[in-house]
Amino acid sequence: MYNENGAYSVKSAYKFIRGNQHDTLVRLHNRNSEDPEFWKFLWNIQIQPKVRIFLWKMCKNILPVGVNVEEWIESSAPECPFCNLPETQTHALRECEWIRRRWKNYGEKELYEIGEGKSCIDWLAQIFRSASMERIQRFCAILWFLWKERCNHKYNNLKKDEEEIIPKALGWLSSFLEAQASPSSSSFADSTGNVNARTDRWLPPPEGVFKMNCDAGVIQQQGVRLGAVLRNWRGEFVGVMVKREKGLCRPIVAEAKAMVMGLREANHRSLSPLIVESDCQDLVNFLDKGEPDFTELGIWCKEIEELALENERLSGHKVRWRFSSRKTNSLAHWLAHSGLGWNHQMVWVDNPPSNLLCMVEADLGLGPLGQN
Ligand SMILES: [Zn+2]
Repeated sequence: MYNENGAYSVKSAYKFIRGNQHDTLVRLHNRNSEDPEFWKFLWNIQIQPKVRIFLWKMCKNILPVGVNVEEWIESSAPECPFCNLPETQTHALRECEWIRRRWKNYGEKELYEIGEGKSCIDWLAQIFRSASMERIQRFCAILWFLWKERCNHKYNNLKKDEEEIIPKALGWLSSFLEAQASPSSSSFADSTGNVNARTDRWLPPPEGVFKMNCDAGVIQQQGVRLGAVLRNWRGEFVGVMVKREKGLCRPIVAEAKAMVMGLREANHRSLSPLIVESDCQDLVNFLDKGEPDFTELGIWCKEIEELALENERLSGHKVRWRFSSRKTNSLAHWLAHSGLGWNHQMVWVDNPPSNLLCMVEADLGLGPLGQN
């Protein structure tokens, strides 16, 4: 493939391919990405939350593969480090010789082969439609493990025995499922109580209710990063916010600021009734006490209370805040801790622009390994 200068390049080859197939790909992609059932299914797969986040990123085409990163960082190379072909998501997860060899160890090859010629989201949608939940869980665990291994190999030159990866993924999945089934880990028993504190997956709120997860990261020399995610009862994103502030404050104050940021957006968009989850137990306790306090924290909490009252006026229902473990709060946590290099508040409604998330990951040199 030759570009305008007559020089062969992978980049021009990719642009040529993309130019021809783009419309079809976009149409196919949209069909599944606009299907609320698809997203609901994805967010409800019983598997580790970080795998669901990985799948979500894959469906949004924002995994940090060469071609995605190159759209953002001109100097970065779109080529696959293992074979020099353009590294698209489908290349990295299915077509590259590196991954093909490893998929071969998987007993249920047809779920791998079903993806032939499909975009990643269509591949996954096809599997959701045709396989049992057990097989879907196994497939997702393997896909995640292969991706993680590939990142390890690519970024850190760490190599594991090829044959080891799939048995490891399956072992990891069964211990997760066992822990879920044991009586000590409660299931979704009470939709109004403090349930998330005891499970390790994000749970959608009751029908008609919205949920906001927020988190903050305070890092010396970097400042404060706030993250908030708003989702509806179907688990769909209705807003994602990230804000970076220069200057430091106590972590609990930063957590309060993240909550204020999310509440303002929820009120602005009339999202009520609302459940608010923070992984900062001290903040939740402080809010529950509701005593007047004239410290910096007290002032931010006063702001939270006022915003909560404003939200209550929208639907007649009180805002409920509660503690949620870091695991169930993982997406907000990730936003708050990965927002390096962003100086302004960003608010996305419905669809966070993929390129920004992609850039953040590329910026950090992280694949999914950087997630909590
Ligand atoms: Zn390759």
